[in-house]
Amino acid sequence: MFKKILIANRGEIAVRVIRACRELGIRTVAVYSEADKTNMHVRLADETICIGPASAEQSYLNVPAILTTAEITDSEAIHPGYGFLSENPQFAEACAASGIAFIGPTPENIRLGGDKSKAKQVMKRRGVPVVPGSDGPLSGTDSAVKIAKKIGFPAIIKASMGGGGRGMKIINNEEEIQDAFFMAQREALAAFGSSELYIEKYLRNVRHIEVQVLADSKGRIIHLGERECSIQRRHQKLIEEAPSCFVTEKLRKRLGELAIKAARAIKYRNIGTVEFIVTPEEEVYFMEFNTRVQVEHPVTEMVMGMDLVKQQILLASGQPITAKKVFKPRGAAIECRINAEDPDRFIPCPGKIEFMHQPGGPGIRVDTAAYCGWTVPSHYDSLIAKLIAYGSNRQEAIARMRRALDEFVIEGIKTTIPFHKRVLENKDFIEGRIDTGFIDRLNNPAA
Ligand code: ADP
Repeated sequence: MFKKILIANRGEIAVRVIRACRELGIRTVAVYSEADKTNMHVRLADETICIGPASAEQSYLNVPAILTTAEITDSEAIHPGYGFLSENPQFAEACAASGIAFIGPTPENIRLGGDKSKAKQVMKRRGVPVVPGSDGPLSGTDSAVKIAKKIGFPAIIKASMGGGGRGMKIINNEEEIQDAFFMAQREALAAFGSSELYIEKYLRNVRHIEVQVLADSKGRIIHLGERECSIQRRHQKLIEEAPSCFVTEKLRKRLGELAIKAARAIKYRNIGTVEFIVTPEEEVYFMEFNTRVQVEHPVTEMVMGMDLVKQQILLASGQPITAKKVFKPRGAAIECRINAEDPDRFIPCPGKIEFMHQPGGPGIRVDTAAYCGWTVPSHYDSLIAKLIAYGSNRQEAIARMRRALDEFVIEGIKTTIPFHKRVLENKDFIEGRIDTGFIDRLNNPAA
């Protein structure tokens, strides 16, 4: 087992990793940027080192600075969290070359997970159903038109290397393809450094359902059930649940089998997530493979009684999976992402937290690095807390979440708490009538 781990991240996920390390008796090294001197992860870690200025390129993405810090602090492993370097195959390779364990999958796993059109090709070949569309990247607008005509409209053009819901364009007819193609190409190049695109059918009224998998170095793979992530805005998740109230025992079995098949197809290692689109008719299509810990991992932890971050560390240290094969969810858990944003327009609102009171009581968990008097910097993403409610069933989890949202006080900055209150009071949400169009319908009831 590792004695010391460097955490190449900040905010709530860095705090989450420190907690797992403490419980495992592992010392922690926090790295931080000049803008994060007063961040909670810096206060909680055993050792701390400033690695550069506020800009992420010069700090949390600064590979030489992070590797040097690992070496001088005698860290045996690096936990990358999510975002930043977590899905960078060169970083995973550089760790290996320096004799430092990367707490995550293999560089090959990361490379394939990051190339969405290639991942789809591999899955299709291995018998995992994928959304109908181009078989690999598009060569130009002509091939986009040809494929779109074959699969029918609406279709969606996506960036092969895309992520975070960006680089996607929905096209409703042939005339829209030209503009959408060039716009998507430009956006993809600017955001992901690659203009490669692919196209697939755009499915309406679908659910985003993902399955958590765990794989050890001996090739044993298990799944930990599904998460429902259909409450999204601009293709970005805002509320997640486990289990999904839509998923029957039969569908859960199928999703689990497909997720394991997907993981086996790429010889996956460590923890990962297989994302699917599920239609109202229960057709399941592979969408992408996420090769890191997800923001929404706590809902799985709550219903499965397993610490996923500890599992990541144990698996990376070479321990085998000893758990029984089939996990069944117990109760229900919901997570609301609390962002420092205007709750109506979702525009980031950094600033000083003048007062803060966290909810508590039965079934409530708050994963955060925020505290009273802390200034949310403008340089990084706006997630400041994850509020998780657990109940013996979905109804109780909703009741607890509503109660906890009322208790949560954050003053001085705007947050998305009022938005979450609206969703949690919505009849369709309460009755489980949710799909990826939910937020649009909530905001434009007449549409
Ligand atoms: P990212 O990696 O940027 O998050 P995804 O491929 O996971 O991108 O897609 C993000 C979201 O976009 C999905 O959760 C889903 O809501 C929507 N989406 C993506 N592809 C399709 C599709 N073919 N049909 C309908 N919705 C889609």
